[in-house]
Amino acid sequence: MFDYLIVGAGFAGSTLAERLASQAGKKILIIDKRSHIAGNAYDRHDDAGIMIHQYGPHIFHTNSRQVFDYLSKFTKWRQYQHRVKACVDGQLLPIPINLDTINNLYGLNLTSQDVETFFASVAEPRDQILTSEDVVVSRVGRELYEKFFRGYTNKQWGLDPSQLDAAVTARVPTRTNRDDRYFTDAYQAMPLHGFTRMFENMLHHPNIKVLLNCDYREVVKHIPYRKMIYTGPVDEYFDYRYGKLPYRSLRFEFETHHRPVYQPAPVINYPNDYAYTRVTEFKYLTGQEHPQTSIVYEYPQDEGDPYYPVPRSENAELYKKYQALADATPNVHFAGRLATYKYYNMDQVVAQALALFQKITVAEEVVIATPSITSASSGMATAAGRTSNGNHAHAKTAPRSKRRHLDDIIKS
Ligand code: FAD
Ligand code: UDP
Repeated sequence: MFDYLIVGAGFAGSTLAERLASQAGKKILIIDKRSHIAGNAYDRHDDAGIMIHQYGPHIFHTNSRQVFDYLSKFTKWRQYQHRVKACVDGQLLPIPINLDTINNLYGLNLTSQDVETFFASVAEPRDQILTSEDVVVSRVGRELYEKFFRGYTNKQWGLDPSQLDAAVTARVPTRTNRDDRYFTDAYQAMPLHGFTRMFENMLHHPNIKVLLNCDYREVVKHIPYRKMIYTGPVDEYFDYRYGKLPYRSLRFEFETHHRPVYQPAPVINYPNDYAYTRVTEFKYLTGQEHPQTSIVYEYPQDEGDPYYPVPRSENAELYKKYQALADATPNVHFAGRLATYKYYNMDQVVAQALALFQKITVAEEVVIATPSITSASSGMATAAGRTSNGNHAHAKTAPRSKRRHLDDIIKS
């Protein structure tokens, strides 16, 4: 009998599996329908041997000491400050917009003070900042909004910024200094051996069994468990009872180039040209040295894997109805970006999962064990996506072998 069946082996599911197993002595089965752990943070080496992020660029950044310390139990880090350029009017300019963006765009030589005055002169005052358009035009005016935000947002979301919550474009600040970092969080780093290796370390515990290539709905009736943690799309869990919650998807196009460097920045955004939003060159992120280089183009689309909840009021209203159902469902906890319909970064998902773990321990009056967490330097992983510990139950896609695997898991 498993204490918890956890659906989804991304940040939400894996954090909860790790905490419940190592701190509360719970027996866990974690299931993912994909062929790998790590959810959307999954990374692997491509055919050329270059570390890529299968679901688009993932850069870890947080202001939470608690989250950073927690993940540091499972990985060493490579310090990394992310930088992005936007291709606007034929130039590659720093984004977030800063002093250099303005000086290079307009061929000026303004000081920070001057640029503040400039923003004040072009900004369109708004009584209330409700939409993603309001955020930008009230800070930097319409022209910069059109050049840097409107087209990108239209492509990314299939919606005009005026149709999206303010929080979406508010993720990107405006600066009057020369700081060209994409994030200013206190902790910014990449897992030294990649995200997948970090997840392998999280899930390497005798109380945790992992079942891959398996939609939980195929097997849930056959698995003895007490409680469930669900991290997939919340509307899907309830068979779309109130209709579909919109999620935005992406198509990724990878290329390997036979030269060491492809582009002059880790990420280049294309707000106004092409069908893709941005191009990422992975070696900047990972620090890998290799004579070739791999990049990825992101093409936003409606259909496909759900990657982004779409933050706007009608969707929040619909989500509230699903949230009420979720709250009224006994013995199932909902966690993560898809199950709580929140545009969360990785660190926010970890923080949410740690908070849920606390809630569970209080509710179940769990006695917390003395910390016994696998050390990050245990070195049990052989390569991204594989482990040497035999702990992963890789179910095959054929139903018979899946059932056999399931029997083994249940027996264990
Ligand atoms: P997920 O990682 O989506 O995991 C959910 C898992 O559940 C999936 O593996 C899925 O296969 C599984 N699942 C769903 N339904 C079922 C089912 N029926 N049966 C079995 N399994 C199921 N965050 C950052 O902090 N920094 C970044 O730079 C960053 N970049 C991003 C770039 C892109 C393109 C995207 C899409 C996201 C990015 N994020 C970034 C956000 C980050 O990916 C998420 O915050 C985080 O991965 C969410 O973790 P999760 O566990 O909630 O969900
Ligand atoms: N955005 C934009 N232009 C840019 C960068 C971002 O218009 O050059 C807007 C866009 O709406 C995007 C949002 O700001 O979806 C958040 O950007 P972020 O880079 O945080 O997106 P993510 O990495 O989550 O895809």
